Amino acid sequence: MGLLKIRTYPDPVLRERAEPIHRIDGFIKKLAKDMAETMYAAPGIGLAANQVGVPKRLIVLDLREREGQGGLVVLLNPEIIKASGSLRHEEGCLSIPGFYAKVNRYSDVVVKGQNLEGEDIEINATGLLAVVLQHEIDHLEGRLFIDRLGPVGKELFRRKWRKLRETEDAVQ
Ligand SMILES: [Zn+2]
Repeated sequence: MGLLKIRTYPDPVLRERAEPIHRIDGFIKKLAKDMAETMYAAPGIGLAANQVGVPKRLIVLDLREREGQGGLVVLLNPEIIKASGSLRHEEGCLSIPGFYAKVNRYSDVVVKGQNLEGEDIEINATGLLAVVLQHEIDHLEGRLFIDRLGPVGKELFRRKWRKLRETEDAVQ
């Protein structure tokens, strides 16, 4: 078991641009395994390495819980190579607990990257899978879903966050 601590907003590591992975060594393999365990335990449907404090280009996701199908996807150096269409979907983030908002995303993306064996893989994604991939790849750029909200959404977030912090301060 290797549950990792999930970093939450405004931890500066969430704003770092993650580094490409050139060598798949024991550290990366263990990180991927621990990230998957951490995601399932949370529970969540996706996790980027910055979220556990490691700014490397690695994401894990699994939509089984939401869509009843799928399985663990581990993707190194993921990159969107094609994008089209649009959709608006309610998103949340393990690094911003307790806040959800609708975000505009592409409805269709093609993402390429490598698996843990170093093989190139390409994913044709639509709907929720496309949303999760865009959300996680944003993390690797140091971007959060709240950055993509309009002025009203951003204000709602500021208020909600202020309130959450006050509650926390009251507890401590
Ligand atoms: Zn997130």
